[in-house]
Formats: sequence, structure tokens, C-alpha cells
Amino acid sequence: MTSSLAPTLAIIGGGQLARMLAQPAIALGLPLRLLSEAQGGSAAQVIVDHEVGDYRDLATLHHITRGCAVVTFDHEHVPTAHLHDLESGGIAVRPGPEALVHAQDKGVMRARLSELGVPCPRHALVTTAEEVAAFGFPAVLKTTRGGYDGKGVWVAWSLEDCADAFSTAAAAGVQILAEELVDFRRELSALVARSPSGQAAAYPVVESTQVDGVCREVIAPAPDLDPELAGQAQAIALRIAGALGVTGILAVELFETTDGRILVNELAMRPHNTGHWSQDGAVTSQFENHLRAVMDLPLGSPLPRARWTVMVNILGGASETGRLYDGYPHAMARDPFLRVHLYGKELRPGRKVGHVNAYGDDLDDCLERARHAAAWFRGDLGNESE
Ligand code: ADP
Repeated sequence: MTSSLAPTLAIIGGGQLARMLAQPAIALGLPLRLLSEAQGGSAAQVIVDHEVGDYRDLATLHHITRGCAVVTFDHEHVPTAHLHDLESGGIAVRPGPEALVHAQDKGVMRARLSELGVPCPRHALVTTAEEVAAFGFPAVLKTTRGGYDGKGVWVAWSLEDCADAFSTAAAAGVQILAEELVDFRRELSALVARSPSGQAAAYPVVESTQVDGVCREVIAPAPDLDPELAGQAQAIALRIAGALGVTGILAVELFETTDGRILVNELAMRPHNTGHWSQDGAVTSQFENHLRAVMDLPLGSPLPRARWTVMVNILGGASETGRLYDGYPHAMARDPFLRVHLYGKELRPGRKVGHVNAYGDDLDDCLERARHAAAWFRGDLGNESE
């Protein structure tokens, strides 16, 4: 007799992405096992079968994945050697180490994408400020590993501006990648899901707004995007996913340049902030398609359910004046169509604690509703009347 129970999926990393994977896992009847960095973390609050431990420890990884069919990730920081070790122990690692290294190391990513002929900003690995000068100012300097949300990215206009980047890189034992400072109109993101069997699904290309290196707002689909460029962006994402053998979600962050080209900024191989709109705005969310893809199940449709969906992140403000659960009565009464997603995190300045999605036929209306709600939760509105 065959078992009717689904195999268990292990997730490494207990942030909000793992938490949001739990939602479709419930619907699909897919058991999850979680390795969380912290007791009571965002995902550990909702995934019963969890342990707290260090993802850099191989024995911990072996322990948590024992008996699981597949392991996937909430972040890209698990050491490559550990991933190889898990694979040779017989567990399916998705995305696998050969693919994941392109999301872990910006130097490796640029080299491979250039080999594939994918349009990228001009770039070079540099070891001294003089080499940056030879590359040409202004230059964007990036640590090859360990950067996120704008940390590990500097703009250098002169030799003196290079010091911080090189001292950070030296302390972390990583390299510095120099890139031309791209003159962009806006940032776009092309998300695809790809299964080990090679099936792929491309989401509509979205516009994302970053503030201080942190995603603030996403509009799906990107307004007034030339259909030719949108098609190119999707084709680039599908091509990268196939060439690198990505399994799960691949997010390709792109620049739309002022002269009408698209260039790849960076890659993420997990559900991505620029895909959160899909929870309420697409037939199948990026979280469900990540699960389907890593379990090698047929993918769900990535098509939008509404003409427009706007996602706005809820970030802690400069002071801790925001309101989360306390903000529900006003937000819900004002807009019964608003979709709220909170991560079970305490408000702290600059911390992503949730997001809202508003969808509909009128973009300005969706923008107003989503921005209002996010500002309300953030505490930027209404304090004066309290
Ligand atoms: P992170 O790993 O922190 O997400 P990114 O490489 O995405 O770092 O850079 C963060 C932000 O810095 C980008 O969203 C973009 O706004 C800006 N940026 C990065 N590279 C360039 C570039 N070559 N030219 C202009 N702006 C850039």
C-alpha cells in the first residue's frame, strides 16, 4: 500500500519567507520541518515541527533534514560545501549548490551572466582604490558576498570614497566588485518558477521602488513598460533559470536604463520581496509555486487576477511609534479589500515587519490604498488625533 501522506520538506532559515511558505503548505497538505535561527522567530511561530540551530553547522543541517525528501531555503547563506554534503547524503537540495552560488556571490554571478551574454552593467573585480580609479569613477562598489538590503553597497566618486568598501571586504574576507553607476529610469523585477523537470512559469514583470537599498513598493505589472522590454526581461529570467539549473523561484532584479535597455542587477533564488504581490494578485503565489517547484509538482498559473496589484512594505519608522495589531480596526474598516500580511515581528526602526497588497482596476486607487495602510501601520498617520 502506498502512503497518502506527502513527503516532508525541510526549510533552512526562519524568517518571513519561510513563514509565508507555510500558508500554501497547509493548503497542499505538505509537511514542513524548519531550522530557525531564533526561538519564537517569524516562521517558528507557525511551523510546529521546528528546531533552533545554526545553519553553518553541518551536523545541525544533517539532523534537521533527516527523513526529509527535499530541502529548500529562506535565505542564501548556507555554505556551499554543506549543500554538497547534504546532496551526497541523498537529499534533494533545491535550489542546488551549483545554482545557488550565483545568488551568493556577485562576482561569480557577473562572470557567469557575461558568459551567457546576458546584459549586465560594466563590471570588474578590484583589489585597490587605484584599480577602481582605473575602472572609472563614479563606481558602485559591492562586497561579493554577504550583502543584503543595500548593506555592502557603496557609491564611490573618488579614491577616498573607496576606503569603507575595502575595509569591510577585508574584515569579512570577501572581494569587491566594481560596477558602472547605471543611469536608470526605474528598477524592475522578473520572477520565474522552475521545477527540476524543467517546467517554468514567468510572472508579469513588476516595478520596484527601493529606499536606502530596501524594497519599499512594488507595482504589478510595471506601468507603461514597453511590451518588447517586458518580453525581454521574462526571456532573460527564463534563460538564466534554465542555464543555471535553478529550482524554485528565481528573482532577477533589473534596471530599466534611461536609454531604454534592461540590465541585470542581481539574482535571488527564493521567494522575493518583489513577488509578495502575487499572494493576492496572482492565480498562484510565488510561495505556492516555490513549493510546487522544489517538490517537482506541476506549476500553477502565474497570471494576474486583477489589472493592478500594489504591494507596500511596512517598515518600522525612526521611532517606535508604529502600530501593528492596534492598527487593524482602522485599516480594515477603511478598506475591506485590503490584504494585510504581518510577520509576527516586533516593530524596530528600519525592520520589515509586514506588507499590504491592494488590487483593482485603477492604479492610482491601489497606490493610495496600499500607501495609506502601510503609513498607518508605520505610525506616520493619525498619531496627532490620539
Ligand atoms: P543588495 O544585495 O543589498 O540587494 P544590490 O546589488 O541589489 O544589493 O544593490 C542595492 C541597490 O543599490 C539597488 O537596488 C540599486 O538601487 C542600487 N545599485 C546597485 N547596483 C547599482 C549600479 N550598478 N548602478 C546604480 N545603482 C545600483
